[in-house]
Order: sequence, then structure tokens, then C-alpha cells
Amino acid sequence: MLVDPSGRKFRYLRLSITDVCNFKCVYCLPDGYQCTHERDFLSLSEIDNTLRAFAYHGIEKVRITGGEPTLRKDFIDVIRAAKDTPGITKVAATTNGFSLKKNIRSWVEAGLNSVNISIDSLDPRMFNTITGHDKFDSVMSGVHAALDSGLDSVKINSVLMKQYNGAEFDYFLNWVKHKPITWRFIELMQTQDNLTFFNKNHISGMKLRERLINDGWSQIQRSKIAGPACEFAHPDYQGRIGLIMPYSKDFCASCNRLRVASRGDLHLCLFSEQGISLRDYMNRETPEALIAELARYIKEKKPTHLLHQGMSGATTNLSMLGG
Ligand code: SAM
Ligand code: SF4
Repeated sequence: MLVDPSGRKFRYLRLSITDVCNFKCVYCLPDGYQCTHERDFLSLSEIDNTLRAFAYHGIEKVRITGGEPTLRKDFIDVIRAAKDTPGITKVAATTNGFSLKKNIRSWVEAGLNSVNISIDSLDPRMFNTITGHDKFDSVMSGVHAALDSGLDSVKINSVLMKQYNGAEFDYFLNWVKHKPITWRFIELMQTQDNLTFFNKNHISGMKLRERLINDGWSQIQRSKIAGPACEFAHPDYQGRIGLIMPYSKDFCASCNRLRVASRGDLHLCLFSEQGISLRDYMNRETPEALIAELARYIKEKKPTHLLHQGMSGATTNLSMLGG
């Protein structure tokens, strides 16, 4: 098992398979995707080797992310590769949902266990303003298709922003009242590209937490391979609320994940100073060399990010790494 100098164990890999995205979320890619490098994303055989090496070290859950991972023509093969990796028991994906309705059944058949869908507003016009696309209805029908598809879990992610959807919190709560779904709020994070935007729009996750507790919600225990969200339940609500609060005290203490970016860089933290290229090792016939490199690099993982000091490392936006 991979254990870092702070004693944290890693069971969860976030694997980005492309940094390309078709949406223009105001906090992530406000000007749309701009390609500044060759589009030489990890091949299926590199992905396969990577998954085997991480699984050797005890990784049980893999989340396929991007950019928009479903834009890759071989997305379904990536799901299959993850499903067929001995040791991987949970295959998840994060998507903006644009092709969910059409494809979710075949992804589930290929082995997808769970999906997180990003929906920042329940108002179609605000959805359009935030993402640059008039696709609210089609993404929502994708959510319903996902709920009917036999997945173990369907979760929705939103980033709340003062000048956009900040007043919609009550609508989101109402939405989960009669639906067995977890709606999660990711606190807006500062990246190299969004400082001014961040200062105008950041809403503290701790404030939302206070509000939930005052309204009778109670926090639920996390599983070992759970994501970073604190989840809350309420007796009058079928669904749950999740809060991802990267600025909260001790957020990093429970870190259980590692990240690989779409061109083969290992990121020990979402906000690390730089990625570590593992591509040479991914290209070998067998994963042994990669296994040895992972054991070496985990010793370099720092105890916490430095976001509180306004330092977002080398992360220009989250589409480059998959969040
Ligand atoms: N395109 C897919 C999607 O949007 O679901 C996957 C990649 S996206 C980078 C993953 C998650 O990161 C999304 O839920 C998105 O809302 C979130 N995200 C992107 N930039 C963010 C930021 N600056 N702060 C907080 N969350 C962010
Ligand atoms: Fe694309 Fe996801 Fe970034 Fe939105 S948050 S621009 S959907 S990568």
C-alpha cells in the first residue's frame, strides 16, 4: 500500500484522460478550451499499465475525469480497462453530462459503477450563463437516465458563486427532498487563472455547514474510499447534501487520493508545484518500473496544500487535472 510521510494511505486514483472540454464554465475555462500543447493524451495501453501499477499498490477506486472525459472516443474502453484491472473494485466518472442520456446504459454495461455530474444551476438561463451552453434540459434528462441505469450511485456537483447561483441553495435542498441523490457543493477554489473571479465569488463551505446543522441535518461517517465530501442527511429528505471544503481546517488530513493528469504526470496534490512525469514508465511492457516509481514518489507528498496562503501551485485551472 502507498503510505506517505504523514501516514496517509491511498486507495483512490483520479485519472484524467483528456484536458479538452466542450463547456466554458466561468470558474474553470471562461474562454473555452485553449490547447497549448500537443494532444498526446495517455493511450489505452498506458492507461492499462497505470491502473495495474496503482492497483498493485492497493488502489481500489478509480475516477475517470478530465477536461470532459466522455469526449474521448475510447471512453468506454477506458471504463472496461479499469473494470478489468485486478484489485479495482469501483469505477467512477465525473462528467458535465452532455452525452449522458445517450450513453449511460452502455457505460454501465462496460462496468461503470458510479457517476458524478456537474450541474451548477437549476435555472436553465443561469446554467447557460455559467457553462456557456443551453443544455440544462438535456443534462437533466441525463441525470434521470443515470438514476434509472442501475448505477450504485449518482451524485451531482455544484460550485456555488456569489454573483451567479449563490442564492439557489434552497432550490437545491428542495430538489433532493424526494430524490435518492447526493447533491454536493464544491467550495470555489482559487487557481492561477481565476484570482479576481475567486475574490468576487467565493462562498465559505463552513457557512453552508452551519446553515445545514441549524436546519437539522446531521453529518454521516465517511467510508475508506469515499471522496473528500462531508455528507449530511436529514430525516425529512430522501437525498443527501455533500460539502467539499478545501479551505476548512484539517481538510488535507483525510486525503486518500492521488492524481494522474492526461499526459502522464503524477500530481501528489491538486495544488502541487509541479507534476512528476511518469510517461516513460507507463510505456514499458509491464508495470514493474512504474510500481517502483510510485513507491519512491509517495515519500514526497506534502502534509497540506497552501491554498490558505493564496498559493495554488502549478494548477492554472481544474480542467487540466480533473478536480
Ligand atoms: N468536466 C467534468 C465536470 O465538469 O464534471 C470533469 C472535470 S471538472 C474539472 C471536475 C469538477 O471540478 C467539476 O465538478 C467542477 O465543477 C469542479 N471545478 C472546476 N474548477 C473548479 C474551481 N476553481 N473550484 C471548485 N471546483 C471546480
Ligand atoms: Fe469543462 Fe468541467 Fe471545467 Fe466545466 S468544470 S469547463 S465542464 S472541465
